Amino acid sequence: MQKHNFSAGPCILPQSVLQKSAEAVLNFNNSNLSLIEISHRSKDFVEVMENARNLALEHLGLLNKGYQALYLQGGASLQFLMVAYNLLEKKAAYLNTGTWSNNAIKEAKLIGEVVEVATSKNENFNFIPKNYTVPSDADYFHCTSNNTIFGTQMQVFPDTEIPMVCDMSSDIFSRQLDFSKFDLIYAGAQKNMGPSGTTLVVVKENILEKVSRNIPSMLNYKVHINKESMFNTPSVFAVYVSMLTLQWLKDLGGIPKIEKANTTKAQLLYNEIDRNSLFEGFVPNKEDRSKMNATFNLKNETLKATFDEQLKQAGINGLNGHRSVGGYRASMYNALPLESVQILVDVMQHLEKQA
Ligand code: PMP
Repeated sequence: MQKHNFSAGPCILPQSVLQKSAEAVLNFNNSNLSLIEISHRSKDFVEVMENARNLALEHLGLLNKGYQALYLQGGASLQFLMVAYNLLEKKAAYLNTGTWSNNAIKEAKLIGEVVEVATSKNENFNFIPKNYTVPSDADYFHCTSNNTIFGTQMQVFPDTEIPMVCDMSSDIFSRQLDFSKFDLIYAGAQKNMGPSGTTLVVVKENILEKVSRNIPSMLNYKVHINKESMFNTPSVFAVYVSMLTLQWLKDLGGIPKIEKANTTKAQLLYNEIDRNSLFEGFVPNKEDRSKMNATFNLKNETLKATFDEQLKQAGINGLNGHRSVGGYRASMYNALPLESVQILVDVMQHLEKQA
């Protein structure tokens, strides 16, 4: 039975990428060796790392603009700490839009003072705060572009005099932005890029080496840059799959092309959430709704068992909301076809007719 995978991450990847990855595990580049049993210093793998780094910068329009791309380990969660370790001298400014921002703030507080410029906590993070001021004497400003759990997404990023850092874990490579506005972008690979196990960090080199502390090697961006993202053994499989996914995106026409497809998918689902009398969206402001993760609830919980059974029958996977929020969450990452969203909408309409 065909599955429709709405999982929030790890999540759906392009079939062609999975196929090529499987082949490379058995026989990489016709070497009769597996991708995961050769040296990461071998010519073939060094080429993979180079391509993966270049493709990321190319997609973001940041090639040859003073930025470096790294594939590190420890997830986006380690970046919460690494960002502060490398950039926080006295004080940093954070926008708190949900669980992941909150976790980033928690780690930064271990290193220095944190100013929360705004938060949507009082409304259970169901909107993106606006009209906040970023203090110009902070070392950097940190925000989360897409809030995977609550289903909100930033449309506008402030113009700051200080470096801007963004956790783009759940919407990187999904939409066009002026990425040169950002000085450091990080994203766990396991949404729009690949499997878990590697984290993309794109950093403008001139913001580094400004803090006075000694930074342990593994936490030091500069060390990783100097070693071309090979300071220690990288997660070879995760980097390879990320490279293939970024190549897939390039062949497809890049971010402008995928953004159109993502908009169409999101419109189809949100229109149904708004139209269907049985459902309500979690995020009331339309402009704050995430195109990657649509969160919604059944108005009448007694229909849950029936709806869940119908989802299962339709081959729909991964639609449960995050355990901290409940309800439903449809994650519509780059590789999810429009057809899967249509099937979900059909199930929602069928439920309404029956009710
Ligand atoms: N930030 C965001 C926006 C996320 O969605 C997640 C994970 N879902 C994280 C950070 C944490 O990522 P990781 O599990 O790679 O540490």
